[in-house]
Amino acid sequence: MKKYFDKLLFGTAGVPLSTPKKSSVAGIIRVRELSLDAMELEFVRGVKMSEESALEVKKTAEENNIVLTVHAPYYINLNSDDPAKIRDSKERILQSARIGFLAGAFSVVFHSGYYGKDTPGKAYHRIKEAVKEIVMKIRDEGLDIWLRPETMGGLAEFGDLEEVISLSEEIEGILPAIDFAHLHARSIGKYNSYEEVREILSMIERRLGREALKTMHIHMSGIEYGRRGEVRHLNLEESDLNYKEILRALKDFKVAGVIISESPNIEEDAILMKKTYENL
Ligand SMILES: [Zn+2]
Repeated sequence: MKKYFDKLLFGTAGVPLSTPKKSSVAGIIRVRELSLDAMELEFVRGVKMSEESALEVKKTAEENNIVLTVHAPYYINLNSDDPAKIRDSKERILQSARIGFLAGAFSVVFHSGYYGKDTPGKAYHRIKEAVKEIVMKIRDEGLDIWLRPETMGGLAEFGDLEEVISLSEEIEGILPAIDFAHLHARSIGKYNSYEEVREILSMIERRLGREALKTMHIHMSGIEYGRRGEVRHLNLEESDLNYKEILRALKDFKVAGVIISESPNIEEDAILMKKTYENL
């Protein structure tokens, strides 16, 4: 369900590593035991969850008061030169929204695709048309769930801050998924201070409205980067990402929604972020 929140909730990208049995249901129970608040269902290698399991996941999340988000498959390119690949990409996002909605998730994040040989302007136009079609289907099917293009870490990938905010402005039902590690890597070291994060949040407030800050879907992790942006995710303490200042800006701005740890240690950094935030 497309909901709004009154505080920031901390969660894991997928089932926590310390979960005895690797299932979404067991993951949700483990997230609760760890005193975390949220979990992202990782459909990254394809949407394999059945409708029946989605309903069981929803029940477990409700019983344990855990908020769910969805990550759509990685194999998506809404700017492919091959129409069949665009069609399949749209279908993967749609299927993520269908199963995510059944599971009670409030938001689906996806990677839009690659610029390829296109100019950013051309890629933007093509991706916007594809996203519009997906949103129309989501609405037709009555799927009450946000769709969110993610800010991407690699320079070859569509999805800088301006692009995802513009898509959100232009298409009803779309909001940005802000990955702070990706923004930092893509800009080769920027977006790493209290002031820079405040600027991002002010821009979201100005262009998408105050309510956008009450239903945020955020990713955070440490990150290694080079000339082309993202190299790989790291644990927060191994990286130069100034996560404390980012969290401070989120707190001062009264941002509410879900922040997902995508560090390799998954739950450890989710707990670190939550504790750091609470102690600010
Ligand atoms: Zn992602």
